[in-house]
Amino acid sequence: MAIAYISFGSNIGDRVEYIDTALGIIRAHPFVQQMQVSSYYETEPVGNVDQPKFINGVVKISTTYSCEDLLAFLLRVECMLGREKTVHWGPRNIDLDILLYDDACISQPNLQVPHPEMHNRAFVLIPLNEIAPEVKHPISGKTIRELVENISEETTRGVVIQ
Ligand code: AMP
Repeated sequence: MAIAYISFGSNIGDRVEYIDTALGIIRAHPFVQQMQVSSYYETEPVGNVDQPKFINGVVKISTTYSCEDLLAFLLRVECMLGREKTVHWGPRNIDLDILLYDDACISQPNLQVPHPEMHNRAFVLIPLNEIAPEVKHPISGKTIRELVENISEETTRGVVIQ
């Protein structure tokens, strides 16, 4: 059984509904045994800022899926929710990314774990810190708590909405 942390985000339509639906599909899957969900945060868009605000959060699962199979499953969930994404860093109704999979370090063309941007993103680190403050980033060796402490003061942190 592996422990994986998955980030979720949505900034189109009924954002909470998309996220709740995605988490419901994940929770119901026989390869996923346990789940713990962070608060939902409303956050300012990063990169392409001319788009609606996001709701972001992180979910912890225990799973018998390999990391590759977990990615394929999450891509299927995105498809089931009719995800359409035309612009890099643009709007999306649901985005699911694998942040960590045990302490695996995977660098394949279609799968990088730990997620290469996770340590730079307040919208990932802050919800992750709620449920996994002592977990160590397998490359830097820093805990999530330490990574959050290093987020610049100017970075917007988002607002808990539920
Ligand atoms: P995006 O929608 O921008 O998150 O990109 C999705 C694509 O990123 C997927 O098709 C994956 O092949 C690739 N990818 C690489 N590493 C990861 C990861 N850790 N989690 C999710 N997708 C990943």
